[in-house]
Amino acid sequence: MTTGHLQIHSDNILPIIKKWLYSDKDIFVRELVSNACDASHKIKVLREEGQVADDGIELRVDVSIDKEARTLTFSDCGIGMDAAEVEKYICQLAFSGAEEFLAKYKSNVESDRIIGHFGLGFYSAYMVASRVVIDSLSYREGAEPVLWSCADGTEYTLEKGTRTTRGTDIVLHIDADNDEYLDAARIRGILDHYCAFLPYPIYLNGQHINHKEPLWIKSPSECTDKEYVDFYRYLYPGVEDPLFWVHLNVDYPFHLKGILYFPKMEKQIDLQKYSVKLFCNRVFVSDSCKDLLPDYLTMLRGAIESPDIPLNVSRSHLQMDRTVRQLSSHISKKVSDSLTALYKSNRDRFLSAWKDISVIIKLGAVEDDKFFERIKALLLWRSVAGDWMTVEEYVERNQDKAKDKIFYTTHEKHAEHLLEAYRDKQIEVLCADSPIDPYLIHTLEKHLSGIRFQRIDADVGDALLDTSREKTILDAEGKTPAGRLADFVRRKLDVPHVEVEAKSLASDNLPGILTIEEELRRYRDHMKAITPEAASLGGLVDQRTFIVNTNSPLIDAIVKLDAQDPALASELVHEVYELALLAQRELKTDSLGAFVARSHKILEALAKKVTQ
Ligand code: ADP
Repeated sequence: MTTGHLQIHSDNILPIIKKWLYSDKDIFVRELVSNACDASHKIKVLREEGQVADDGIELRVDVSIDKEARTLTFSDCGIGMDAAEVEKYICQLAFSGAEEFLAKYKSNVESDRIIGHFGLGFYSAYMVASRVVIDSLSYREGAEPVLWSCADGTEYTLEKGTRTTRGTDIVLHIDADNDEYLDAARIRGILDHYCAFLPYPIYLNGQHINHKEPLWIKSPSECTDKEYVDFYRYLYPGVEDPLFWVHLNVDYPFHLKGILYFPKMEKQIDLQKYSVKLFCNRVFVSDSCKDLLPDYLTMLRGAIESPDIPLNVSRSHLQMDRTVRQLSSHISKKVSDSLTALYKSNRDRFLSAWKDISVIIKLGAVEDDKFFERIKALLLWRSVAGDWMTVEEYVERNQDKAKDKIFYTTHEKHAEHLLEAYRDKQIEVLCADSPIDPYLIHTLEKHLSGIRFQRIDADVGDALLDTSREKTILDAEGKTPAGRLADFVRRKLDVPHVEVEAKSLASDNLPGILTIEEELRRYRDHMKAITPEAASLGGLVDQRTFIVNTNSPLIDAIVKLDAQDPALASELVHEVYELALLAQRELKTDSLGAFVARSHKILEALAKKVTQ
């Protein structure tokens, strides 16, 4: 028997592993099962190369629990190790990354996910075991079985082992604090989580538990829709079926396989739980593909596997890594290709999925210029009348009437009086009611020359005016009737930051409307979104123009009433102004009480006049 000291650069890594890895102890199962699969795979390769005779022994991994002995054992029929190999691979833990690992570990909460990639996998057993025993027989002819044993310290013993067939048993003597790992259901749960797709059969206490082939390794042409949906259901039990999916299958210049699903958007979804899962050699590694997927694709689900993802570097490095950038842009391209293909082949299906996929498409357009270029033809807008179109199609359909402007509303229910005017002139109005739309509008204006969005209340253009009824005769003071009316209303209204103009509007039913200049409103909305508490923004919020309609019988009547009852005429002017505010969602909630009180007062005064 030999005894020795573990060669570890950093003085004693085991207590440190124990201390730092408490957050996710379960991964020791993943590490030991992966090692067993690796050892089995090596035999498979040697068999295929004819270097080892095919002895017919099934390549499987057995996990067994002995509650009485308090042991959890991982057995394989892989290549095994001889004494020299145990010394080399297990004892001389001279991994160059040891110190690096420790440094990273202390600063990185996600390190439990990368422990295996520092060559520390085997030692994770010490998170739950007070002693670990390796009983191994190498595949090499004439090899002696070897038994290595090491308690929770730095000293180990190496003696003759007991195995008579090729392979390795790793026996964990579970310590008193970790009884849960002697519970079969608990181990089953961990195996299902991490090891479901491993290429060799895994048995727990004699029962075969992993039956699943990862669908992503199949060629896309061989997969049926049912298989895709079933696989999704397997990955995310209990959620609605996916809308469609993208199968990734690249071998050059990097390796990438996976299936990305477009989910039905659900409210209050746990993004972490339902995110894309990252696999490495068919072992589940992480629920986080944040750096691998562009931000706008984090809502997708599915699984990705790539041996080229450098997991042993910290996340900031990951963002910088060239391969990762290539992978990420490849994924983005595949996603845009598949969206385009769906749009071209089945526009109805595309439209029916719009409410779920539009967030991804719009965010991608705003965040990534290349993505924008690829999907710009898919950026659809719904018109108030219910037709779908791109901005380019809009321009074409409305060219002569809209004069290259794209009219839109952010609240179609609130702008009915204005919409009616646009309808009468047969100018289409697009609905831009999603919170991303202002950013998308900005993006479109930036990329597409000559495109200009204008909210329907930004200005009174041709849609709202009726110039044929404009009266241009000047009075003694050189004023038009409209100029006089504007003076009158301005005097009566006298609200800070509000301009008053009088115009000949097409509809007589509109006594007045508000306009807020497009750029100003965008800036105002932006500021309100980022600093909602800054109520007035130095009067910016109140800056608007009140356009009084020279053709309105109501305005006409108010002007006449002024000679008789100027106070009531003033109240009516305010009322008309505030009704316009109300209709256009500009009336502040705290002004509502005063508005209602004034309305009652006016109604009372008018009722009295009628009954006098
Ligand atoms: P890694 O697997 O990342 O190299 P580990 O600490 O898990 O790091 O394992 C160290 C080495 O020990 C492995 O590379 C392998 O050579 C050897 N080893 C571990 N488990 C087994 C096993 N079940 N069969 C054969 N060799 C093994």
